[in-house]
Amino acid sequence: MSDSSFDYCILGAGLAGLSLADALTERGRTVCVIEKNEIASGASGTPLGMVNPATGRRATKTWRAEQCYRAIYENLWKVNSYSEKPFFKRNGVLRPALTEKIARKMSDQLKKTEWADGWCQWLSKKEIQEKHPGITCVDGGLWLPIGLTVDVAGYLSALARYIESEGATVIEYAEYEFQENGSGWEITLENAGFGCRNLIFATGFGMTTDLMWEFLPLHPIKGQMAIFRPEEPLSFEHSISSLGYIAHIGNNEYAQGSTYEHDFEELEPDEFGEEYLRNRLKRTLPQLEKTSTLVGQWAGARISTPNRKPVLGRHPERNNLYAYTGLGSKGLMYGKYLANHYAEHLLDGKPLFKEVDIKRFDNN
Ligand SMILES: Cc1cc2nc3c(=O)[nH]c(=O)nc-3n(C[C@H](O)[C@H](O)[C@H](O)COP(=O)(O)OP(=O)(O)OC[C@H]3O[C@@H](n4cnc5c(N)ncnc54)[C@H](O)[C@@H]3O)c2cc1C
Repeated sequence: MSDSSFDYCILGAGLAGLSLADALTERGRTVCVIEKNEIASGASGTPLGMVNPATGRRATKTWRAEQCYRAIYENLWKVNSYSEKPFFKRNGVLRPALTEKIARKMSDQLKKTEWADGWCQWLSKKEIQEKHPGITCVDGGLWLPIGLTVDVAGYLSALARYIESEGATVIEYAEYEFQENGSGWEITLENAGFGCRNLIFATGFGMTTDLMWEFLPLHPIKGQMAIFRPEEPLSFEHSISSLGYIAHIGNNEYAQGSTYEHDFEELEPDEFGEEYLRNRLKRTLPQLEKTSTLVGQWAGARISTPNRKPVLGRHPERNNLYAYTGLGSKGLMYGKYLANHYAEHLLDGKPLFKEVDIKRFDNN
């Protein structure tokens, strides 16, 4: 075993890897994060991410919404001072209904849902259009003042700096090999090596082709985002969730997301993505679409599972080998809350929620 050694080595510096590194460091463990590119170079590099607890056509409240929201909101504030520029806004999310059917579904769902005070309210068509002149809306929609818009890469850079200040090690652009030894793992880097007791894979898309994890039904869904610049400065602050989402990213630019491509060969943005996203924008904000120029495009892969819940837990056949993946399109919402839950499981033996436990894929 080498001189230095860590309790945990985490592969991948995206929302999963860095959130878990944070949770383990907070609980006094020694942690090293190894990233083969730069921080947030996978799905977490999305031009922006929203924390919107009302998802899908019906605006259904997301799983454990209150706990997840609290965990990410507190973490954004916790690492806020580790960034030179702001990386998140609590600017609210407007959800206009685009058809009568959607309006009916949303309002039925709202009646059935217990929302925390101040989280979600119904607005009439007139009220929605007063809030956002020019927006397409039929029969009303929802306003969620607590919605957050996050520069995810900015957040993760600040989080990496924070955990380093707390004693963790983060290595970017790492070329490395690992092998099992009697009591854990040996990691060999170009010019150095170290031991670790536990190895955790949080490599996102990389896990879908890794033979070690082939028993997991991980499904990658490509998502493209378009960045537009309007002729006139934008007149709104809130984000919009309608056909995909629309939100400011600064410099008088805004992002329109996103595609959901289940079959894809290349993980690059393409013309299909541009056309699809422009059409979506046109349906929600026709006037803005007319005066906007495409200035950038981005693509990444979300990793989903059959029950659309993440995967946490130990490899069924290997000691000291673990996974944290499957955050799907809710990496911000789930990332820190489930990292805390995972840390309590790893350190105190607390049972994992069955919805996220890797054992749900264990056929034996
Ligand atoms: C278009 C799009 C829009 C999205 N919008 C939102 C949103 O609004 N809100 C939200 O909450 N979520 C959103 N998501 C989802 C969110 O981005 C993901 O859930 C989250 O980023 C997944 O994080 P991760 O750490 O599991 O994976 P990743 O971010 O992909 O991180 C994996 C990391 O592992 C590294 N890696 C890969 N292989 C290795 C290896 N062998 N060794 C070391 N490192 C390796 C990669 O370089 C990468 O940095 C969106 C995703 C997409 C694609």
